[in-house]
Amino acid sequence: MRSDPADYELIAPGSLQAVVSVLADEPGKWLPIAGGTDVMVQYAAGRLPARKLISIWNLPELRAIEILPEEIRIGAGCSYTELREHSVIAQEFPLLGSAARSTGGIANQNRGTLGGNIVNASPAADSLPALMAYEAELILVSRRGERRVPYLDFHTDYKKMKLAPDELIRAICLGRRFSNYLHYARKVGARDAQAISKVCVAALGRLKGGVAGTVIDDVRIALGSVAPVPLRLTEVERIAKGKPVEPELVQLARKMTSAAIQPIDDIRSTARYRSAVAGNLVAEFLEQLRGSGMTV
Ligand SMILES: Cc1cc2nc3c(=O)[nH]c(=O)nc-3n(C[C@H](O)[C@H](O)[C@H](O)COP(=O)(O)OP(=O)(O)OC[C@H]3O[C@@H](n4cnc5c(N)ncnc54)[C@H](O)[C@@H]3O)c2cc1C
Repeated sequence: MRSDPADYELIAPGSLQAVVSVLADEPGKWLPIAGGTDVMVQYAAGRLPARKLISIWNLPELRAIEILPEEIRIGAGCSYTELREHSVIAQEFPLLGSAARSTGGIANQNRGTLGGNIVNASPAADSLPALMAYEAELILVSRRGERRVPYLDFHTDYKKMKLAPDELIRAICLGRRFSNYLHYARKVGARDAQAISKVCVAALGRLKGGVAGTVIDDVRIALGSVAPVPLRLTEVERIAKGKPVEPELVQLARKMTSAAIQPIDDIRSTARYRSAVAGNLVAEFLEQLRGSGMTV
């Protein structure tokens, strides 16, 4: 059943300071709404429990993309369109650019924000494996001040995260240290556009030459849609480091991937399919890395 607008209150204080003040005065009572592409779906379906909404759309403090020498800071209120059109993101963080291009359609990309994708915390969210592979850090803000937390362990379980009721995500920080890496992104859905992921992968890798030949110097592999939260394949990464990309390693990585994930059967796919595809994509990434020439 659709919601009745008369049951809801929406305020738009217009500045970050005013918003965090309202959140601090009544923690947990106000639901921030940015682009609204997740919140309004719940509203339209009559499933939005929050009755008091506070708009953070277009707050200037959440819209900037700052380019610093060591990192870029992406305002949590930046839309996918802003991400996919940004030249530094395209050059240095193509996994995020690719996630932005494959999220929903153009209307959704104009409205949906990176902060909203993180806090909505869908296991199928497309930007999250990219943030995990780049080892993003989040700047959280409240009236108490700001704190910086690694994204890697921000999501603790299905739709659970280390965000206090009076806090907002202010920015997402990405270190500028991946220029000589292979960046590998794959989203497997029912079709190329406008599809929710059955499995998605964001991975980074780099080789190095040694006396015994070319071996893996560093890999980071993150998967979405295969567990309640996005996963880093830390064991696969550990065994791959220092080894040449040979068929035995690729086969082992494929097996370890299937063992590390917790896929489910749902309306989009089956656990068996997800497990097989996740293993195949990790294998494809390693094979591309072998031929990439990306060395230290
Ligand atoms: C047609 C359609 C297609 C879609 N396709 C995809 C897809 O392919 N891939 C995908 O990953 N997603 C997809 N989505 C989901 C959605 O667009 C994204 O999750 C989007 O990034 C949400 O951002 P938003 O600004 O619209 O969030 P909102 O709906 O405004 O908010 C979502 C949640 O985040 C919270 N929030 C928002 N910003 C902040 C902040 N800065 N700090 C703290 N809390 C915050 C809100 O309180 C709310 O709980 C789709 C949605 C639709 C409607």
